[in-house]
Amino acid sequence: MDKKIILTFDYELFLKKSGTIEKCLIEPTQKFIEQSKKFPIYGTFYVDVLFLLKIKHRYPLEYHKIRDQLKRLVDDGNRLELHLHPSWKDAVEAQSKDTLQWNFPKFDFYSLKSFSSLEIQTMFLEGKCELEEIAQEIEQDYRLHSFRAGGWSITPFKAIKDAMIQSDIYVDSTVAPGLYRESDVQNYDFRESSRDKVYWTFSNNPAKANKGKFTEWPITTYKISIFGKILRKIERKSEMNKRPDNFDIFGDGVGMSISDVGLRNGESVFHRILRPNMYTLQDVIPSELIRRIKNERRDWITFISHPKKLSNNSFLAIQKLAENGCEFYTIKGALDALKDDQ
Ligand SMILES: [Zn+2]
Repeated sequence: MDKKIILTFDYELFLKKSGTIEKCLIEPTQKFIEQSKKFPIYGTFYVDVLFLLKIKHRYPLEYHKIRDQLKRLVDDGNRLELHLHPSWKDAVEAQSKDTLQWNFPKFDFYSLKSFSSLEIQTMFLEGKCELEEIAQEIEQDYRLHSFRAGGWSITPFKAIKDAMIQSDIYVDSTVAPGLYRESDVQNYDFRESSRDKVYWTFSNNPAKANKGKFTEWPITTYKISIFGKILRKIERKSEMNKRPDNFDIFGDGVGMSISDVGLRNGESVFHRILRPNMYTLQDVIPSELIRRIKNERRDWITFISHPKKLSNNSFLAIQKLAENGCEFYTIKGALDALKDDQ
C-alpha cells in the first residue's frame, strides 16, 4: 500500500466550552509525539494562534507549556502553520477555581468576514510573527508556509488574499471538495472543487482552480453509499462493544453545534446523506479506514483532525497506516516533493 498520507491537525480548544489546555492539546499531542518515536510519522499542525496570543501575557505558565510542545513538534520534523479563530475576541473566561477555561456565548466573531481588511491583516501578521518566533528557536530560518481558515470560512477571499500576500503565505488548506454550508455563522461552498486533484493553483477563489500565484492543498473527501453507511454503523457498534474506551476522546470541552450555526436553507436529510466525508482520524474505526485506503484510487490522501477529538483508535489507525507501508508527509514536504518531480 504505497499511499502518501498528509496528516493535518487543527491545534485548538473547543469553541463553545473550551475544555482544558491539558486535555484538549497537551495530552493528545504528546501521544502523537510518543508515537512518532516508533513510526516515521509527520503532521502539519494548524495552530490557533489568536488563542495563544490571548494567554501569552496573562497565563505565562500555560503559554510556555504549549510553546514547549510546539517547539518539540518542529524539532521532530512536523510543521506549524497559521490557523485563525477570531472567536477568541468575545471569549469569556469561565469561573472555575482550578482550571483555566472559556465559554463562547455568542458567535458574532466566528469567521474573518466580521472584520475589516486592516484587522485581518493584523491578525495574520501577529500570528505569523508569533509562530515563526517559536519555530525559529529550533530552526533559524523557519517561515510559515500555509494557512487554514477557522471553520472552513475562507470566503470572501479578497481581504484574506491581501493578508496572505502581506504575510508572504501562498498556500491554503481549507477547501474540502463537495462540502457546502450557508448559515449565519459559517458560509462556504466547495461543491465545484475537484475531488481528484492533489492540489491546484488559484487567484481569487480557493475552491476554483485557475492560473494564479496561490496554491490550494485540499482536504481529501470521499463519498459513501447509504448501504456503506449502514455497514459502518454496524461495524462501529460491534467495535464499540469490544473496546468502548478506544472511542473516548481526549478533549473535555464542547464544540459549536448545528443549532448554534443558524442554518439558512436548512440542511435536508437528503443533503446530509449525499454530503461527502472528509478523511479524518476522529471517530475512526481503524480496520475500516485501512480497507478504505487500500481501495482508494488516489495516491495522496489529506486528513483533517483535531488533537482534542483524537482517541486511542486514532493512534491505532496511525499505527496501522504506518505498518501497511504508507508514507507520511507534511503539506510543505509534499509540495516540495511534487514540484521536484515536475
Ligand atoms: Zn479550527
